[in-house]
Amino acid sequence: MTNQRLEILNFLSQSAGHPTAEDIYDAVKAKLPRISKATVYNNLNFLIENDRVKMVDIKGVSRFETKVRPHHHVICKMCSTIEDFESENLNKYAIELIKGKTQFKIEHTTMNFLGLCKKCAQQSQK
Ligand SMILES: [Zn+2]
Ligand SMILES: [Zn+2]
Repeated sequence: MTNQRLEILNFLSQSAGHPTAEDIYDAVKAKLPRISKATVYNNLNFLIENDRVKMVDIKGVSRFETKVRPHHHVICKMCSTIEDFESENLNKYAIELIKGKTQFKIEHTTMNFLGLCKKCAQQSQK
């Protein structure tokens, strides 16, 4: 494990949100000033291939997290705040539903739920 990879993992595991590659680059650059964007991308790809990091597409932007076990996301469409959401019941229900309609054997699922976070919902009422 290289120093660069460790810094990327450290930053990702400490950030509660789902940072973009740009966020990761900025954070790692603060510690390793000579790191290039290409190096950050290469390391991210390596970590994804080795199941240490997961990439999620949120509104067309790639975001990264160290929580690799399948889970869902609730996303604010105004400020792009993202929260993790887990529900065994939802998974079971979705998989049963798909089983009844397709010939696929589903292994896992990730869903994005778009809406307004508490803060944005309050603001839009004013
Ligand atoms: Zn919001
Ligand atoms: Zn997540």
